[in-house]
Amino acid sequence: MIRKRKIRIKWKNLIIFLFIIVLIIFGITRIIKGINKLITKDNNPKQIIEKKKITDLDKKLEKLDNINKEIDYFIEDNIDRYISYKEKHTEYPTIQIIKNVNMNLDLEPYKDIKEANYLNTEKVLVNKYYYLDKDYIPLNLQDISKKYALNNMKLVNVAKDAFEEMAKDASNEKLKIIAMSTYRSYDYQVNLYNKYVKTDGKEKADTYSGRPGYSEHQTGLAVDVYNGKTNYTNFESTKEFDWMDKHAHEYGFILRFPKDKVDETGYVYESWHYRYVGKDIAKYIKEHNISFEEYYATMIKDS
Ligand SMILES: [Zn+2]
Repeated sequence: MIRKRKIRIKWKNLIIFLFIIVLIIFGITRIIKGINKLITKDNNPKQIIEKKKITDLDKKLEKLDNINKEIDYFIEDNIDRYISYKEKHTEYPTIQIIKNVNMNLDLEPYKDIKEANYLNTEKVLVNKYYYLDKDYIPLNLQDISKKYALNNMKLVNVAKDAFEEMAKDASNEKLKIIAMSTYRSYDYQVNLYNKYVKTDGKEKADTYSGRPGYSEHQTGLAVDVYNGKTNYTNFESTKEFDWMDKHAHEYGFILRFPKDKVDETGYVYESWHYRYVGKDIAKYIKEHNISFEEYYATMIKDS
């Protein structure tokens, strides 16, 4: 009996001992695994680069007052351009920096260029940074009624309908709005631009005429007007201009090159040049007194 008890006690001790050993081994493996994880994490080059990237981005955003949190037209791809433009233009608030760079004002006209997006829609932007292919001809060009236009004046159908409606309503108030230059093909613009360059030199011609491919007239959405008497360059002095100033946006047209937006549009003031953008955009632009460039840079995703 006594012997048996002794053996029993030994077995119990052995089991406890083994249990402790297992616990220790388990503990040690956990610790080793943990250390291993830490080491591989710190040494993984990809993760290190990512970590660094985040801090670089944070630093850049800080330089721009973290304005990305306040506006939805902050374009992360433009971040280095924003920063270098801000360094050169300390006079502007950061929000203006973002707008100006989105408008490409940090780039050189006719050099840093892209093909225009939103072809055949009222959102298409054509200027000294966005060009149309020489073969581009807008869809659905139609003649404007001769009641409201010189011969062979064509606009895209939606713009043509809106123009006729506008001219008709103006005529009900004894005002004459006549389209005198509308859709112009690439080749037509080649001749026109060359003629201007011959007369005024390239530098001056660039202030008032689009180079071929860069003229909004090739979209079939732009129209130059006059009142049938006064030269179009004096359109501003006419009653028709005053009427259009009040009402053009109601028909979807905007004054495309306003006096106070020369830096943004890249063109001198043209009281006679209107652009069809549709009623919604025209209303917004009129109410906020902004250029189409600013509208495009802040309201339209350029992709
Ligand atoms: Zn024009």
